[in-house]
Amino acid sequence: MGLTCLHNKMTVDALKKAGFTDGSAQFAGSANAAVDEKQGNSSEQANLHAMCGLGQGEQDCLRKVQKIITDGKQDAADAIASQDFKLALRRMGETLHTIQDMAFHKFEPWPFAGIGEAILNAPNYMFCHLIRDLGAVSVHGALDVDVSWRIGSQVYLGVRGFYHPSNNYFAPIPPLGGQPPEIPGFGGLLTITIGAPPGSVRVRDPYPDSRGSVEGPYSSMMSSGRADLTRAEDETDDFIQKIQKDVEAKPANGPLPAGPELWKLFLQFRPA
Ligand SMILES: [Zn+2]
Repeated sequence: MGLTCLHNKMTVDALKKAGFTDGSAQFAGSANAAVDEKQGNSSEQANLHAMCGLGQGEQDCLRKVQKIITDGKQDAADAIASQDFKLALRRMGETLHTIQDMAFHKFEPWPFAGIGEAILNAPNYMFCHLIRDLGAVSVHGALDVDVSWRIGSQVYLGVRGFYHPSNNYFAPIPPLGGQPPEIPGFGGLLTITIGAPPGSVRVRDPYPDSRGSVEGPYSSMMSSGRADLTRAEDETDDFIQKIQKDVEAKPANGPLPAGPELWKLFLQFRPA
């Protein structure tokens, strides 16, 4: 769950930004992406993606997901202390998968045995899930698509395309219950959004559509992708910073390097 390539990229980018070598960043990114090979509906597997397993209660689900993150962080800290940097990077990558998925999946139930079964049983849900997992895309009306990139911590550059087949835009009086007066044809807009991520703020349709197809149960799910991605990116940075702070705060206890010196060694590591 979650697009594997997005998980990989987010992790590689964050580690490189934190000063890790390219090899280390790639290694953690692959460990992260490998978590998506476990897509079953058991609690053990669903919880890895911050979703709840078949028949799992919500409280149990929240507790188990939290435990995956706490354990992963501890494993990484222990591995850094004993200078098993490869293990530390693997555990960091795996734990970041759950952290990133938490931003997207928000503990939804996952009763499906795999992606194939999910698409067969709940095609609408899976379509929305997929669009949201794309992270950069939010879909507004049936034919409006937004793609946006984060170019600053709170600034997004977007491209918005639309295709409206309705041709009664210039009709002097819109027919009762007819097509909404949208600009006919197709076109694109370049957008710069400052503050809230595009798609995270719901704007009420000023021309309520009698077709009723625009506001469905999954509408907010479909437009929350960009906001979710921003949250996942921030949480990823946050996790790495927390581990760094913990390592740097720990004084030496014996001949092994510790504190900032140990963190520096970790940053310089190159997995063979
Ligand atoms: Zn996942």
